[in-house]
Amino acid sequence: MNGYIDAHMHVVSSGSFIDNPKEPPIPDGPEDVIAAMDAHGIEIGVIVPIRPQDNRFILQCQRRYSQRFMGCAMVHPYNKNSVLQLRKLIEKGLHGLKLHPITQQFSDRDFEHLSPLIKEAGKLGVHVQIHCTPMFGYSTLEGVLRLAYEHPETNIILLHAALHRYLDLFPLSRAFHSGYLSNLYVDMSGTITAFYNSPLWESFRWVMKQIGPKHLVFGSDFPAADIGKTIKGIHALGFSPKEENLIMRQNMIKILKRKL
Ligand SMILES: [Zn+2]
Repeated sequence: MNGYIDAHMHVVSSGSFIDNPKEPPIPDGPEDVIAAMDAHGIEIGVIVPIRPQDNRFILQCQRRYSQRFMGCAMVHPYNKNSVLQLRKLIEKGLHGLKLHPITQQFSDRDFEHLSPLIKEAGKLGVHVQIHCTPMFGYSTLEGVLRLAYEHPETNIILLHAALHRYLDLFPLSRAFHSGYLSNLYVDMSGTITAFYNSPLWESFRWVMKQIGPKHLVFGSDFPAADIGKTIKGIHALGFSPKEENLIMRQNMIKILKRKL
């Protein structure tokens, strides 16, 4: 199987995911996620925790389906032992660190607490995913950009393409051309589905084209967003098949250092 690599998926231990309390929960056990992956040609799903207490369950899922899942760890930057916790979780076999400024309630500009973690991830050779939907003063986008700039040895994925602030990613194209931020990647999950077929689509598409295929990754945020619609949106960005292969697979192989 030479399929897609989805950089951003969730599996929950309860087996059902509640996104909107007004709607029925979505089946989200490991087998449900694998069925969704199979239905969309996804070979490997990077499983991202929602809460730090999910680490153990994600390790179990990864052990059970080692050919299909690669898990990330979550720790809280305010925890005195966060660097040590991260090191232990990576030693146990996880492949990255996920940070969520909004649900974990810390600012992505709290460099004092975040820098040691980002630095450690680089030393351990794993990537960091940072949720980025600027709101509530926790998620600012500028924090993620500065962390990436100050830690060039750590690969960082900015999640959700900064939602309504995607336009502020435009200067990245210039930074990449000048050799800066080569460690920064953009996942479009949730945002590409929100803007596809909207009056903003041409603008969103144009900014993603400026960022370019070497710095974009396919992430669906399943089950919070629709995999099929995400893939459809990526096809509609208008990249060549070779460029699309970078977004859908090759960039993540490089980030995960996965031998396939
Ligand atoms: Zn997510």
